[in-house]
Amino acid sequence: MSSDGLPPLRDVITRHGLMAKKSLGQNFLLDLNLTGKVARAAGNLEGATVIEVGPGPGGLTRALLAHGARRVIAVERDERCLTALAEIQERYPGRLEVLHGDALKTDFRSLAEGETVRIVANLPYNIGTELLVGWLTAEPWPPFYASMTLMFQREVAERIVAAPGSGSYGRLAVLAGWRTQARIAFDLPAQAFTPPPKVTSAVVHLIPRLEPLPCEASKLARVTQAAFGQRRKMLRQSLKSLGGEALLEKVGIDGTRRAETLSVEEFVALANAT
Ligand code: SAM
Repeated sequence: MSSDGLPPLRDVITRHGLMAKKSLGQNFLLDLNLTGKVARAAGNLEGATVIEVGPGPGGLTRALLAHGARRVIAVERDERCLTALAEIQERYPGRLEVLHGDALKTDFRSLAEGETVRIVANLPYNIGTELLVGWLTAEPWPPFYASMTLMFQREVAERIVAAPGSGSYGRLAVLAGWRTQARIAFDLPAQAFTPPPKVTSAVVHLIPRLEPLPCEASKLARVTQAAFGQRRKMLRQSLKSLGGEALLEKVGIDGTRRAETLSVEEFVALANAT
């Protein structure tokens, strides 16, 4: 038995036949010390409703419950995991709700209206960015969640928190920087997972800004897509289809600059001028 009175995760995996499937981005965290560290990175969970994407055999789910989450709502696509998760439901009566389905088709806002929601997940790498962009562009704003604590490949984590001038700075950093304060909490080596992925992972913690600069997310997406789509070109060239030199002059930005030198504020000004 583990300290939470449930069987060790390796036993859970064997008993329920949960051989990891690559197509579902399954790299499981089996060390409850590490899942505890992720849960702690999410801040104070007492009284919070946690939305978890992809609980798998439930390692992180167990840590979230053990660290005091009032309720966990977990969305899992893999039917094989449901019986393993049912054991956790039994151990924590009334505190774990499992939704069998595709996170990309889930209306997260409606899951826990009026409650303090924290999103915590070891995301499947193949849909992690898409889910994050969905949560960052949520409307209305401030969003339905108080924080997001998410595991990504380290390279993706760097793209989320990147500052202007860095090679990782791009559309994701502008979007995340516009609407949140984002930081990397810690790294997790590949060997922490079963099976180990090819690269290091990192946990990113994002807190929504209550009053981000006013801007339409779709306009910001359009400008950053054009600018970073041709990141080596000067802006007067890459933004040609959106107004080029005239647009840049309107907001006082030198057309010979390149996308990665612009601050989030400058991108917002450009988006608002389109
Ligand atoms: N939380 C577990 C852990 O930390 O050990 C598993 C994490 S594993 C990286 C990703 C999980 O997301 C898997 O359980 C996988 O089945 C699930 N998953 C993959 N695609 C999904 C989708 N579209 N919707 C919901 N869950 C999905």
